[in-house]
Amino acid sequence: MDKEGCMLCDKSIRLPLCFSCMGEEIKSWLGAKDPRLVELLEGNNFFLRTYNRNTEKCLSCAKELNVCVDCYTYEVREILETYNPEYIEEFNEIFSLAIPKRRR
Ligand SMILES: [Zn+2]
Ligand SMILES: [Zn+2]
Repeated sequence: MDKEGCMLCDKSIRLPLCFSCMGEEIKSWLGAKDPRLVELLEGNNFFLRTYNRNTEKCLSCAKELNVCVDCYTYEVREILETYNPEYIEEFNEIFSLAIPKRRR
């Protein structure tokens, strides 16, 4: 049986943006802070790309979605926590406010 939703947490994906599109936003913010962190994030993206479960398509690039924004930003927070914990608060502010809460 196919289940819809995020590969990692099984919640339905409330914001139909894939991690690469989401990542573009995050990377431009991160790059201004510390370009090294962008490289670390790219490494993580590679890991996420190995997941492949077709649910719906990204609004922006039409690629298949497999990981929700919550799980993706969780990965980013892990990186920040390890390398630059002082950015976490700002990250939370910028990216949770930027995400509209949608229900399907
Ligand atoms: Zn998830
Ligand atoms: Zn996309």
